[in-house]
Amino acid sequence: MAICQATAVHFLPLIEAKREGKALTAEQIKEIIEACTAGHIPDYQMAAFLMAVYFRGLDAAETSALTLAMRDSGDVLSFPHEQRPLVDKHSTGGVGDKVSLPLAPLLACLGFRVPMISGRGLGITGGTLDKLDSIPGFQTTLAKERIIEIVQQVGSVICGQTEKMVPADRILYSLRDVTGTVPSIPLIVASILSKKLAEGLDALVLDVKFGAAAFMQTLEKARELARAMVELGNHCGVNTRALLTNMYAPVGRAAGNWLEVKEAVACLEGEGSRVEGEAPAHSAPDDLRELVLNCAAHLLVQSGKTKSLDPARQEAQTRLDSGAARKKWDEMLMAQGADLEALNRKLALDHTAPVVTEVKAAQSGYVSRCNARLIGEVVRDLGGGRLTKESVINHDVGVDRLVKPGERVSPGTILARIHAADASQAGAAATRLMAVFEFSPEPPVPNRLVEEVIIFGSDQ
Ligand code: URA
Repeated sequence: MAICQATAVHFLPLIEAKREGKALTAEQIKEIIEACTAGHIPDYQMAAFLMAVYFRGLDAAETSALTLAMRDSGDVLSFPHEQRPLVDKHSTGGVGDKVSLPLAPLLACLGFRVPMISGRGLGITGGTLDKLDSIPGFQTTLAKERIIEIVQQVGSVICGQTEKMVPADRILYSLRDVTGTVPSIPLIVASILSKKLAEGLDALVLDVKFGAAAFMQTLEKARELARAMVELGNHCGVNTRALLTNMYAPVGRAAGNWLEVKEAVACLEGEGSRVEGEAPAHSAPDDLRELVLNCAAHLLVQSGKTKSLDPARQEAQTRLDSGAARKKWDEMLMAQGADLEALNRKLALDHTAPVVTEVKAAQSGYVSRCNARLIGEVVRDLGGGRLTKESVINHDVGVDRLVKPGERVSPGTILARIHAADASQAGAAATRLMAVFEFSPEPPVPNRLVEEVIIFGSDQ
């Protein structure tokens, strides 16, 4: 990209101001983002600016200015005015987190419009688009006009950002990725919210995960990020709430792209009640269903459709159990090019990876730990995730039939099944998976799935 020397010289005092901890004006931040998006600021200067922000931070006004400038760096979706509110959910990412897949069609059935713009995975957390890529024919790259058309007709769409949406984030994120400036709360807030604000939403629920396998490893850090996003989202006119959810164990019983799609379909088909005692063979567990219902219930309340959480949850549950969301899923898939017959044939298969191995318990007891971080690493190394942005994903590999903390096992109980490309990879994964589980003679104290809800204006 051409470098405009005039801009580079002009930009230096702004880097210096931020280096000295001074606040920039909204106008200055807008200029920086416009020049950066136009390719007028060299990478070395932008990287220096990001490092200054990393150390000096941004105050609320600067973070807001950055978020809005990033949103306006490209296309913003604009929908016809009508009574169905525009809503979405964003998760900071977790192992086995496939909540978006059943949630989008469920929300459409509850009378919302859902322009769910999702991302790809990097490292141990999976990406919604990678999961959807395992569905035959499904298109995640859509033009802006088609996104709007599907949302208006079907009610929900799950796709990637168009080339023209929030280009500033693409540029900044790739620089942050290689300059050690990703873990900066104002930069994360601006990155996430600029993309969500570009969807033209009325309400947004954030699933901010904490724990060993989460982006934010402690509850305190997750709370700090959630509060900043809730505050800014609401100031920008989007009713925003955050759930702080536990990411010590994977969500559900499967991690790996296709295996997670299968589990999401099972959730849409009403599976998900906890079975007491022995671990069930392969039913969808209730943490996935709980998260889906929680997100839907909050959005019903946020949008004013329902007065309080209990009836909202009941309404969401009734709609999920009626099969309406399952039908809506098919409708959404067809609108996005999926071959439903091929999908149904694939869903009927027990597995699509060449090798499947069971990992079994050697002792009796209760599962006291199922280490989500290790499982995420195993799935990534089986080929199910990316080590770098260029890595090619194998959609068929992963783990399923995972036992969950609190379940009782005895010798021979299946702790997990590994789906691998070959026997040697399956063997290596099996050895590593043995370290994933810990057992206790008594049932462990259960972790709460939703630890806290951050609501705008409540006592923070
Ligand atoms: N996810 C994003 O989209 N942006 C960040 O900066 C971090 C996580």
